[in-house]
Amino acid sequence: MESKRLGSIGYSLIRSSRKTIGIIVRTDGSVVVRAPHGATKKEIDDVLNKRIDWILKHKKKFEELGPAYTKREFVNSEKHLFLGNEYVLRISDAPFNSVILNGEFIDIECNNESMVKPLMEQWYRQKANELMPDIIMPVVNQFKSKYHRSPKKISLKNMKSRWGSCSSKGNISMNIKLIKSTRDCIEYVMAHELCHLIQMNHSENYYSLLTEFMPDWKVRKIMLDHYMR
Ligand SMILES: [Zn+2]
Repeated sequence: MESKRLGSIGYSLIRSSRKTIGIIVRTDGSVVVRAPHGATKKEIDDVLNKRIDWILKHKKKFEELGPAYTKREFVNSEKHLFLGNEYVLRISDAPFNSVILNGEFIDIECNNESMVKPLMEQWYRQKANELMPDIIMPVVNQFKSKYHRSPKKISLKNMKSRWGSCSSKGNISMNIKLIKSTRDCIEYVMAHELCHLIQMNHSENYYSLLTEFMPDWKVRKIMLDHYMR
């Protein structure tokens, strides 16, 4: 990958055996150009110039949204979320593995860079187990005193594509990754799942129940989408 520039726009150039020149704007606002091995600088600049408005529009959109957190590379200085705050990864060599929250940093010691991702995942799991019960239980108790229903079982799980789930038997699962978002967001997901104990669907009745129980759920959902994109 080479770093190139056209006017004010910096971009990464990746050459391959493809036939056309392709441009993507990543969610962090960076621009990647993919081009055939034989494409000249002028050919590439021509394509970029033609699509300059499109590139600027997307760069602006992504920059306004702030960094995306779903695509992390687990490298030094990268920002990672914990309870809605950003922390900077500081990775150092050590014979033993450890992850420590230290001011605005997450200090990671390990003897191999490939360990950073699994160590971070393990740390998030540990933090979720430690902190999420205190965040979700008040919501569960409030729901119980209002609607006389409570889940049979609550588990914290690593889930790929959902924040929470509620089975027909009344077992609720919450995604461990929620510990990256805020307390408000975690409470919202719990409220969403609790309402399924009464309404096993997303009908109008379901949403009026959710709105009655948590009137500001929409704001919380927007925040969750923002953090966890
Ligand atoms: Zn649902």
